[in-house]
Amino acid sequence: MSTDAARYDVVIAGGGMVGASLALALSRYSEGRLSVLLVESFPLPSADSAPVYRPSFDARSTALSYGSRQILDSVGAWDALQAHLTAITRIHVSDRGHIGSALLTAQEQGWDALGYVVENAWLGNVLLSALHSAPGVECASPASVTSVTGHNDLASLQLQYREGETQTIECRLLAVADGAQSGLRSALGIAGKVVDYGQQAVIANVCFEKPHGGIAYERFTDQGPLALLPLSNSERNEARAALVWTLSQEDATALLAASDEAFLARLQKRFGYRQGRLLRVGERGCFPLQLVEAEEQVRPNTVVMGNAAHSLHPVAGQGFNLALRDVARLARLLAALPEAELGKLSHLQAYLDKQHSDQRSTVEFSHQLPGLFAHKSPFFSLGRNLGLLALDVLPAAKARFVEQAAGLAPGNARG
Ligand SMILES: Cc1cc2nc3c(=O)[nH]c(=O)nc-3n(C[C@H](O)[C@H](O)[C@H](O)COP(=O)(O)OP(=O)(O)OC[C@H]3O[C@@H](n4cnc5c(N)ncnc54)[C@H](O)[C@@H]3O)c2cc1C
Repeated sequence: MSTDAARYDVVIAGGGMVGASLALALSRYSEGRLSVLLVESFPLPSADSAPVYRPSFDARSTALSYGSRQILDSVGAWDALQAHLTAITRIHVSDRGHIGSALLTAQEQGWDALGYVVENAWLGNVLLSALHSAPGVECASPASVTSVTGHNDLASLQLQYREGETQTIECRLLAVADGAQSGLRSALGIAGKVVDYGQQAVIANVCFEKPHGGIAYERFTDQGPLALLPLSNSERNEARAALVWTLSQEDATALLAASDEAFLARLQKRFGYRQGRLLRVGERGCFPLQLVEAEEQVRPNTVVMGNAAHSLHPVAGQGFNLALRDVARLARLLAALPEAELGKLSHLQAYLDKQHSDQRSTVEFSHQLPGLFAHKSPFFSLGRNLGLLALDVLPAAKARFVEQAAGLAPGNARG
């Protein structure tokens, strides 16, 4: 280990939605006491730049749960986010071609909103701008963490800058937040357990003839779920929604290549006319759907976070919301520790033990939902229709569903 290596309390490898949130939470909860280095392979935007589309902060949108609102508020990001949010006041869940449907409303929960939709590019802009003035946080970008070794209660990392320069860094704790295909997880020899759903999520922003009225639609079709999340109006003042459409590889490829007219016609047929005619579609993107779970999340001086720890099917909009609860729990614990103990396995294991049940129930919820609706047999169809009807009429079933979706189950980390 070099003697002149720069030393930090925590290094976060990956400045995506989760890495950036962790850096903010550590700064806020420790009141700037902890020294944090955030390393990101792509150039981070400057403090006052407009939103830039790049990995993690791409053309997707994210549905933030009520629980995430509390956490983002606690790290000082909520006020700046508000200008870019659309409140979800109702969620309409239905099964195409079948009778069952359920309507979940914020009013019956006694909340202002069931959740909030933000475009990832704006979320990135707010998180990264906040980092520029977060006490104790430094950023290295464009730079990648290329290797990790551990000695004497420290992790030693190799940083490679895009221009070719390299640097050795030491830290008490390395947070691996480099995404679902985590190169560092592999470099550390931590296996990723993968369930391939054999499907793609096609995403795009679309414009409708009629206003959405704050309704998010979750429509289960025989080809997979289709979600439409309400967004702020377009520049032409048309009602806008963020589409996440789960399709087979073949269908996704065909739809990505289709003309705008053909794409809209196909979507209209799938979704129907609840919001009138579809008028326009923006840039389309595609994401392979896999459940990826790291076999280990904690080791001495190392913790695996975000998609690198658990990457979920997006149907229930839970991936970032769960990761944010992990972030809040870990940052609170680290902020209360003496520097020398930040990488101690017993503390990291205590964090994971506390998050275990939340992680398990959220992973199961996201994994089972699309599978339940994928069955074509009349038996399953009847069962899920009854399930949706029950959801609509039974307050207890509804309350449990909303609690899970909102990230507010008892024992979950809060801001
Ligand atoms: C279609 C879709 C819709 C979704 N909708 C929702 C939703 O509504 N609600 C919700 O809660 N979740 C949603 N999710 C999940 C959410 O997007 C993820 O949970 C979140 O993006 C995970 O962020 P991350 O920072 O862990 O990983 P990533 O976004 O993959 O970021 C990893 C970052 O690490 C950087 N990096 C990689 N390697 C290195 C290295 N060696 N050194 C330094 N940097 C590195 C990358 O450049 C990248 O910026 C959705 C996902 C999909 C696919």
